Amino acid sequence: MAKLTIGVLALQGAFAEHINMLGKVGVAARTVRKPSELDGLDGLIIPGGESTTMALVAERWGLVQPLKAWVQAGKPTWGTCAGMILLSDRATGQKQGGQALIGGLDVTVSRNYFGRQIDSFEAELSVPKLGDPPVHAIFIRAPAIIDTGADVTVLARLTENAQRSVAVAVQAGPILATAFHPELTDDLRWHELFVNMVTIGMVTEYAEGSG
Ligand code: GLN
Repeated sequence: MAKLTIGVLALQGAFAEHINMLGKVGVAARTVRKPSELDGLDGLIIPGGESTTMALVAERWGLVQPLKAWVQAGKPTWGTCAGMILLSDRATGQKQGGQALIGGLDVTVSRNYFGRQIDSFEAELSVPKLGDPPVHAIFIRAPAIIDTGADVTVLARLTENAQRSVAVAVQAGPILATAFHPELTDDLRWHELFVNMVTIGMVTEYAEGSG
């Protein structure tokens, strides 16, 4: 297999933890702080943190357009928490004036869906794609996905009560998004899933009708 390199956007937030996890699954990883550092990468992780701050820093460092171009080119991209917010086509609960979203993922996120109620919590999620055991998910001022487009697959839902559940992990082609923080656990399965997506992307480029 060709050697993969995955970048982790390192403007703010939990980027070091992702780099550590990628090391554990045996993949080369490096930080991305400027547009030229996207060159030669096979995949990109946009970490959790604070989406407004991350967007402001990205704007200042000239990264918004390059990141949009990256996603629009169909390159494998995984957003966790704030990263998921930035990848979403639509967001509610924005600060006044909104923020520059990267977009590309056809969902609506509610930016502080859980944060309004409780700052952080942990939950067991059933994720059929990852099999057993259930995923131990850490939510920190977490967003949720309140609406999904036709081509978006929901990978995990959080049960809120007997009547209600909300999507917290989705995949759409080369884009993966999780509202919680797999990089803060010992569970390597999400990083392995993303590495698989990157590997598939290298073969098919997600082109329609390929293969
Ligand atoms: N709700 C936060 C935001 O708007 C995200 C929190 C997180 O990434 N842990 O950016």
